[in-house]
Amino acid sequence: MCIFCKIIQGEIPAYKVYEDEKNIAFLDIFPRAKGHTLVIPKKHYETFDSMSPEDSLAFTQALTKVTVLLKNKLKSDGYNLFSNNGTVAGQEVPHAHFHIFPRFANSKMKTSMPPVLEEIKANLAGIHKEIIA
Ligand SMILES: [Zn+2]
Repeated sequence: MCIFCKIIQGEIPAYKVYEDEKNIAFLDIFPRAKGHTLVIPKKHYETFDSMSPEDSLAFTQALTKVTVLLKNKLKSDGYNLFSNNGTVAGQEVPHAHFHIFPRFANSKMKTSMPPVLEEIKANLAGIHKEIIA
């Protein structure tokens, strides 16, 4: 059983901040920001794209609710949503999850987009064709 399933089962304690029939959210024990929270479906899906349409809908609604909760309670100035899917993308726990990083005007946390890839930029039309074909 994966570590997140153990949290869902109550075998591992967690600072839960939200729960509904299909999802829970809890504070990340390796916080990168005040209120850094993980939102996960209770059913073990390895990645976001493998979720059923019904569970995905319930999950994204829960994600929105937790985002609002954190924003209201912690009085954050903004937030980042972040999800790694697949080993190549840096996923460490094989159970679909989103990170919410509340952002504060005075915090030192840095996030940045990867650099623009000029060779990809030069081939946008080709990539567009590949996706919509
Ligand atoms: Zn799991």
